[in-house]
Amino acid sequence: MSVDGRRARLALPFTVVRAPGVLRLVAGEAFRYTLRGDAIERWGPSLLDAFEAGARVGDALAAVEPAHRDAARALVLDLYGERVLVDAAGTLAVNAPPRLAPRGAAALVERLDRPGEGTDGTLPVLCQDTLDYAAAAAFGRARRAAGEPWLWVSTAPLARAYVGPVLLPAAGPCITCIERHFRRLSPAPELFDALRHGDLGPAGLRPTPFPDAALDLVAALVRWKASALAAPEQPRGVYALHVVEVATFEVTAHRPMLDPTCPDCAPW
Ligand SMILES: [Zn+2]
Repeated sequence: MSVDGRRARLALPFTVVRAPGVLRLVAGEAFRYTLRGDAIERWGPSLLDAFEAGARVGDALAAVEPAHRDAARALVLDLYGERVLVDAAGTLAVNAPPRLAPRGAAALVERLDRPGEGTDGTLPVLCQDTLDYAAAAAFGRARRAAGEPWLWVSTAPLARAYVGPVLLPAAGPCITCIERHFRRLSPAPELFDALRHGDLGPAGLRPTPFPDAALDLVAALVRWKASALAAPEQPRGVYALHVVEVATFEVTAHRPMLDPTCPDCAPW
């Protein structure tokens, strides 16, 4: 995957200190990076300035003098790897709420499928009631390939449901980033591999039951995200991962983390 189409920004407001062949990026006392390269003090600062403004990587690299462009590209990949550069927050601009195109688990599809609602394009919604992360990843890859934003919803965890962020095709995080984050937080990460690659027998993955009232709450969150896309000031929650706790009806919102080593959306 080429990095050129991504919009990047600096993760922190760095002060740039230059010396011949050296740039030092300093943010507070805890974050210091030393970058070296031939004449980097000449081409580096304007490259970093472009990212401060959320430039497309391809445009920022094109502005570097040709003799140093390869070095600049290598530097950009290093900075992505170190999380000094991150994807600029992508947003989806719509004039009116999109029509939901739900598929998957019937109980949620029934609640979301309103063909008359929504006018500005369609928003695919993958509704899952099994822990089929392989299917979610495949769905996400297909949406990225088609250039389509989408939503992921899962009631499979049983005690809680997830209502994913609006996932964008040209900016992270993606559904695989989210799964990898869950895996890192899990007390039993090996279960993710067992469910993906283990022998599940003829019955396969079993759907998880979920109470009707909690399904209604999950569906309301999905509808809110779709309608909030068309708000003049999109609420941050559109791009948050919501967790609905069945036992308490508590809803929490979390910023989904981009995984810089994600096999599906990392830029190398
Ligand atoms: Zn990813």
